[in-house]
Amino acid sequence: MGVTHSPESPALTPAPRVLPELDDTSRPFWTAGAAGELRIAHCPTCRRYLHPPRATCRDCGADLEFEAVSGNGTVFTYTVAHQQFNPAVPTPFVIALVELDEQSDLRLVANIVDVEPAAVTTGMRVRVRFEQHDTVFVPVFAPAP
Ligand SMILES: [Zn+2]
Repeated sequence: MGVTHSPESPALTPAPRVLPELDDTSRPFWTAGAAGELRIAHCPTCRRYLHPPRATCRDCGADLEFEAVSGNGTVFTYTVAHQQFNPAVPTPFVIALVELDEQSDLRLVANIVDVEPAAVTTGMRVRVRFEQHDTVFVPVFAPAP
């Protein structure tokens, strides 16, 4: 079971540590944490980021390249999960849609960590961290220092 997102209706999956299935298109996103970087698919022609990763630009058809972003963002919206769907994932936990600083519509579904779920707010400043599972580095966000 993979984590599925779509830009139109982000799926707030209840089992965030269920690891994604990597393919050639998504692999750069899920492994860039090895270098401590959050890398997002970027169109060199339109000069825009696109997420989730895809092979080509939906606007101009150009091949996308992965570029490192700052890893800084804000909580756009979030939900607190209380039901335990996966024994490996303690509850409660926070799943958020994080809007990255680089672009107003550039949003990632990710867990918010290192903070009590009750203290998470919309608009909260966050910064990326990575949870390593073998070769997969899952981006999560913690309150910005
Ligand atoms: Zn383009």
